Amino acid sequence: MPDGLRIGAAGLWDELLTSLQLDPAATFLSGTEPKLFQTPFSKQVVCPMWRAMTQELHIVGGGMAGSEAAWQAAHMGVNVVIHEMRPKVETFAHRTGNLAEMVCSNSFRSDDDEQNAVGLLHWEMRAANGLIMAMADKHRLPAGGALAVDRDPFSESVTAELTALPNVRVDYGEITELPTEGHWIFATGPLTSAGLGAAIQAETGADRLAFFDAIAPIVYADTINMDVAWLQSRYDKGETEAEQKAYLNCPMNRDQYEAFIDALLAADKTEFHEGETATYFDGCLPIEVMAERGRETLRFGPMKPVGLTNANDPENKPYAVVQLRRDNALGTLYNIVGFQTKMKYGAQAEVFKTIPGLEDASFARLGGIHRNTFINSPSLLDDQMRLKSRPNIRFAGQVTGVEGYVESAAMGLLAGRLAAAEILGQKLDTAPQNTAMGALVHHITGGAEAKTFQPMNVNFGLFQPVEGLKGGRRGRKDRYKAYTDRAKADWQGWLAAQS
Ligand SMILES: Cc1cc2nc3c(=O)[nH]c(=O)nc-3n(C[C@H](O)[C@H](O)[C@H](O)COP(=O)(O)OP(=O)(O)OC[C@H]3O[C@@H](n4cnc5c(N)ncnc54)[C@H](O)[C@@H]3O)c2cc1C
Repeated sequence: MPDGLRIGAAGLWDELLTSLQLDPAATFLSGTEPKLFQTPFSKQVVCPMWRAMTQELHIVGGGMAGSEAAWQAAHMGVNVVIHEMRPKVETFAHRTGNLAEMVCSNSFRSDDDEQNAVGLLHWEMRAANGLIMAMADKHRLPAGGALAVDRDPFSESVTAELTALPNVRVDYGEITELPTEGHWIFATGPLTSAGLGAAIQAETGADRLAFFDAIAPIVYADTINMDVAWLQSRYDKGETEAEQKAYLNCPMNRDQYEAFIDALLAADKTEFHEGETATYFDGCLPIEVMAERGRETLRFGPMKPVGLTNANDPENKPYAVVQLRRDNALGTLYNIVGFQTKMKYGAQAEVFKTIPGLEDASFARLGGIHRNTFINSPSLLDDQMRLKSRPNIRFAGQVTGVEGYVESAAMGLLAGRLAAAEILGQKLDTAPQNTAMGALVHHITGGAEAKTFQPMNVNFGLFQPVEGLKGGRRGRKDRYKAYTDRAKADWQGWLAAQS
């Protein structure tokens, strides 16, 4: 048991008693899990603040997530140490030693909190006294409905705000182990150092940490034309009806297939960033690379038509079939199987809408392949973002399989609050599922398919439906407004319960 004198600061103890307006001779009892400490005054004390003083929160990675986690935990009264390897150890994308450096674009995307899920996440973080949003607002640049940020003053002011806090310390150095003791948040991002990556793999298994993503486009289920597409697993495989109908199939005749291959070959592609030394794995080649290898490659690969009968037109054998698979437990999102791509976003939307059944599709996210370190969160993390095998460790930010500055900061905000609450002995449930924060964390820690898990942006497809509203494109505006109204009320309730 830690004893009161071990903090070695009688002055600190006096300050605590003064700040709590306690008589030094009083016995102070509070907290949910009683622990008794011997005080310098030979009195027994149970005090959440005592725990905060004796148990530090260590945060590895001072990026978007780590900085926000530190800010939140520090404001709850916990002592925080940020371990940041830059500038001692560099990455190929960062340029400075600042905390929360934006490595590429300077955009936090849409700021519309009524009709856009990212804008809603902005709103939720602002309501939670988020540092990243406050500094983004302070250094905002004109960008229409988007939130663009003056990157250098932004990261400089995040660094200044954090280092000005008396209970935050930055320790510059690389961490290469997963500690067995203490409270830790790992927020090391898409460019987690190699040494730490090896330690994570040793703990989780090599197949649970990826170094590249291979993202296939994801479509909102209610924008797929079911007069053209049909539900069927290849060869009707599966024990249950749900398994036999696990895939959604879009048929192509020969002309449609040839036109599709031409469009793929002609489409604009993005290059890997400088410093991203990427080799493709044969298991996840971009579709345009497959098409370059031969016009028939896709028809013998992800677009093979075998084992499928078009329920809308059983007499006609499709020449090729595009398959989509359910991407979340809610059944609101479908990913296009095997369609990871490096086509530019504009080109993707154009090319994929030529697929029969997807002419009016809306995309929850478009495809991509990037250098990106991320764990298989659905199988590894509990709903408190703790590693199931080592509950003293949380993960946050892009390494958990969310994508983008905003989503990463949001996961930092949540992890920081959850970790601080645990240190203080308070019970704090994870964010409510109907908030943007909750929809995202629920997806990565349970809603997503672990087997095919790939990084995810926040989007309305992750939200539980609001009953009684029209689906499809026509009902979209009302539906999104209902989602954001519901989310704001639930988020305010969650915050109020902590104050
Ligand atoms: C090349 C590239 C371009 C990108 N472009 C965009 C974009 O345009 N828009 C967008 O929204 N997102 C972009 N991203 C994703 C972006 O990096 C994340 O959205 C965001 O920065 C993630 O926040 P984070 O806190 O999880 O990670 P980061 O912000 O990367 O922070 C992680 C921190 O951990 C540190 N670190 C790593 N390993 C260790 C270790 N072992 N010990 C101590 N410290 C460590 C790193 O130095 C870093 O400071 C890009 C990513 C890359 C790689």
